[in-house]
Amino acid sequence: MSFKYFKYSEFDSPDEPGSGEKHMCETLIQMLDEVRKEYGKPMRINSGYRSKSQNLMAGGKKDSSHLRGYAADISVKSSVDRFHLIWLFMKYNFRRVGVAKTFIHVDVDPDKPQEVMWLY
Ligand SMILES: [Zn+2]
Repeated sequence: MSFKYFKYSEFDSPDEPGSGEKHMCETLIQMLDEVRKEYGKPMRINSGYRSKSQNLMAGGKKDSSHLRGYAADISVKSSVDRFHLIWLFMKYNFRRVGVAKTFIHVDVDPDKPQEVMWLY
């Protein structure tokens, strides 16, 4: 499977080359691809799939959706970009969104509550 804008390698756990392709949920990247198209400029993936040790280092929760390839953190640097991205995530049916100062977490984890937005 290939995507228009994203490469699996952008979602690799830094300690495990190839892990993005091996573990990331295709649906999530397809949804991000749609958002990226309308967004019209690069979206930097801070974190996609995480190995256990990488998740510990990142301070992720024990049941983090990153461990199962359901999540991505998108870098965001301004209030304008934050607004635009959140608006697009809503438009493209993302149901789980976490907003931090420097990134937005989105995931499609089917085992967690839907239609939630939280802050870090
Ligand atoms: Zn995250």
